[in-house]
Amino acid sequence: MATRWFFSLHFRLIAAFALVLALALTGISLYVGYTSGQDTERLERDIDDARLAKMNLLVTKSYTERRGWEGIQQAVEGVSSLYGWRVLVMDQDRKIRADSHLDFGQFGDLAPNGGRTFPILSRGVTVGSVLVATREAPEETPEPSVSLLTTALNRSLLWTGLAAGIAGILLISLMSRRMLAPVRELSSAARLLGQGDTSQRVSPKGRDEVAELGRAFNSMASDLERADQQRKSLMADIAHELRTPLSNVQGYLEAIKDGLLQPDGRTIDTVHEQVMQLSRLVEDLRLLALAEAGDLPLHRQPGSLVEVLQRSLDGVKPRADARSVELSLEAATGLPPVEMDSMRIAQVVGNLLENAISYTPQGGRVTVTASLSGAGLARVAVSDTGIGIPDEDLPNIFERFYRVDPSRTRATGAAGLGLSIAKGLVEAHGGAIYVESFPGQGSRFTFELPLT
Ligand code: ADP
Repeated sequence: MATRWFFSLHFRLIAAFALVLALALTGISLYVGYTSGQDTERLERDIDDARLAKMNLLVTKSYTERRGWEGIQQAVEGVSSLYGWRVLVMDQDRKIRADSHLDFGQFGDLAPNGGRTFPILSRGVTVGSVLVATREAPEETPEPSVSLLTTALNRSLLWTGLAAGIAGILLISLMSRRMLAPVRELSSAARLLGQGDTSQRVSPKGRDEVAELGRAFNSMASDLERADQQRKSLMADIAHELRTPLSNVQGYLEAIKDGLLQPDGRTIDTVHEQVMQLSRLVEDLRLLALAEAGDLPLHRQPGSLVEVLQRSLDGVKPRADARSVELSLEAATGLPPVEMDSMRIAQVVGNLLENAISYTPQGGRVTVTASLSGAGLARVAVSDTGIGIPDEDLPNIFERFYRVDPSRTRATGAAGLGLSIAKGLVEAHGGAIYVESFPGQGSRFTFELPLT
């Protein structure tokens, strides 16, 4: 469990965020530390300079007002105790006139860096000099240095950083939990789908990538559910379609055995017809299975599409005549040869024509047109003036065993495989087939084949 959490996206998001936060805080504190160190140094220098100038003014003023060094000692002591400096005043002969720390030995001992020296100018003439050792008087309580500010700043930065870090990690933990909830929902739905529960769906919210993934999952699950239902009903359909002619044959044979029916020519013809229907069905199923698996052997060679169409029309002419349906072929001139398996394409056209004639009432018309469409395709359309197909049936019309009106077509022996076979054969040629229909006015089935 712990290792699973360790490898989870949730943990990784928190870790990545914590890392970014730590880097940002370290960067900020390094930068602030560096710049504030420089700033405090400058500030300290500026303060010292201002104080030194003030002190220099004081000493000069005292000298000028009293016309000599008298009282200079008090002034120097005052400044020294105020700022905690060692201050020494010398005249032009380098004689010490005042010392803030009289008993503290040589000035140089207290100011190893030499301190700072300023000339004392009185009416434009140098009369002596002031030597100052800033922060060099150990007996004084040192003034709180400005540099302490940097430490305080760094400390508050650290605490703020820590508080921001904890709040940030809590926030990212909550946010990533929320963000990853749909992913968890998806993975559990996918697991159940994998176990065969095709009713699994997720509820995608929003428009982000995860929601997009959720919608893709739902559409995949719907496709799978449909395919699963089709697979189940296919088995039932096949069994059902095989049973009808088989039980007919069985019925006839039993009647002959029981002496109820004479095995004369007529009876044998009927039984033969049923067996033929059975074997046609088995052959259709085999063809479909081969086409769907992409294993259908095709003997493709360049041939005339118009010839194939004409032969197919000739084949169905007696049936069309019997139903008083007019047949016609309209072919564009100069159609180039099409690389195809003529037998199979004839089968496609035959199926479409059979349907068109079956679903067109007396006096109707069935027209076959052949033309060139753009992009190197030959287009064949079989149009009729028949009953048409309701809109809600159009999306399923090419599915196996699908019939718009099962009671009507079962009587004719049609199993609902004709259009599936047509689609399988056209697609095996690299083409496409589609349908348009206006109920009550007619239908048009169109297929396109690549020329080469
Ligand atoms: P069948 O073997 O039943 O003809 P098809 O796959 O060829 O099966 O056709 C499926 C269904 O499509 C038919 O049952 C019929 O309801 C409908 N259909 C096909 N062609 C036409 C058409 N030209 N006009 C009206 N309905 C059609």
